[in-house]
Amino acid sequence: MSHDFSLARERMVKNQLIPRGINNERVLQVMGKIPRHLFIEEALAGEAYNDHPVPIGEKQTISQPYIVALMTEALELKGTEKTLEIGTGSGYQTAILAELSSRVYTIERIKSLLVNARELLAQLGYNNILFKAFDGTLGWKEYAPFDAIMVTAGSPSLPKPLIDQLADNGRIIIPVGDRYSQELIKVIKKGKGLEQKGLGGCRFVNLIGVHGWSD
Ligand code: SAM
Repeated sequence: MSHDFSLARERMVKNQLIPRGINNERVLQVMGKIPRHLFIEEALAGEAYNDHPVPIGEKQTISQPYIVALMTEALELKGTEKTLEIGTGSGYQTAILAELSSRVYTIERIKSLLVNARELLAQLGYNNILFKAFDGTLGWKEYAPFDAIMVTAGSPSLPKPLIDQLADNGRIIIPVGDRYSQELIKVIKKGKGLEQKGLGGCRFVNLIGVHGWSD
C-alpha cells in the first residue's frame, strides 16, 4: 500500500527542526520536500520521519533528521559549491547536498550501499552527483579543491587530506571524538590557518580508513 508521507515530513520540520533553531529557509524547504522514507527499507518506512537514526543495513544508519539539518545548515551552501560528502550511506544526505550545491562528489566504503544510493538518486532525477566506492578519509584529489566537505561518520581526528583538499574559505563539518561519542565540529580554512567551532555532542558510526579508525 502506498502512503503519502507529506504530513509526516511537514511535522518533522515543524516539531524537530524549527524548535531546535534550524532557520535556514533552503534547508527547511528541501527537508520538507525530499522523500526520506524511500531511503529506508520498506518495513521501516513508518519510522523514517521519527526523531532518531534508522538502520540502513550493513550495520550503518541514516542520521536523525535534526543532525542532518544541523550539519547541512552549518555548511552555509548558496548553490554554487562543489561539495564533497564522505559516507553516502542511504543517499538521503547526498540528495539534500545535491539540491543545495552545484555539484556533489560522494564517497562510500561499502559498495552495496553505494550501488543502492546511486540507483535511487538516479530514479529521483539527480544528475549532479558523482559516486565513488573508496576510503573517503583520503578525499577525492582529482576534483579538489572543494568549497564544502561533510563527513557523516565519527573520526578520531580531522583527516589531513580533507584539509588539503578544501578551498580557501571552505568549510568542513565532521564528528570528531572516540568510537562511541563525538563532538560535531565546523572547520573553516582561512589561508594557511584553520578556524574551528564546536556544534555540540553527537554519536555516529565509525569513520573507517587510513585517516580514521581501523576496522
Ligand atoms: N549520510 C548517510 C545517509 O544520509 O544515509 C548516513 C551515513 S552513515 C551515518 C555513515 C556512512 O559512512 C556509512 O555508510 C559508512 O559505511 C560510511 N563510511 C565509514 N567510513 C568511511 C570511509 N572511510 N569512506 C567512506 N565512507 C565511510
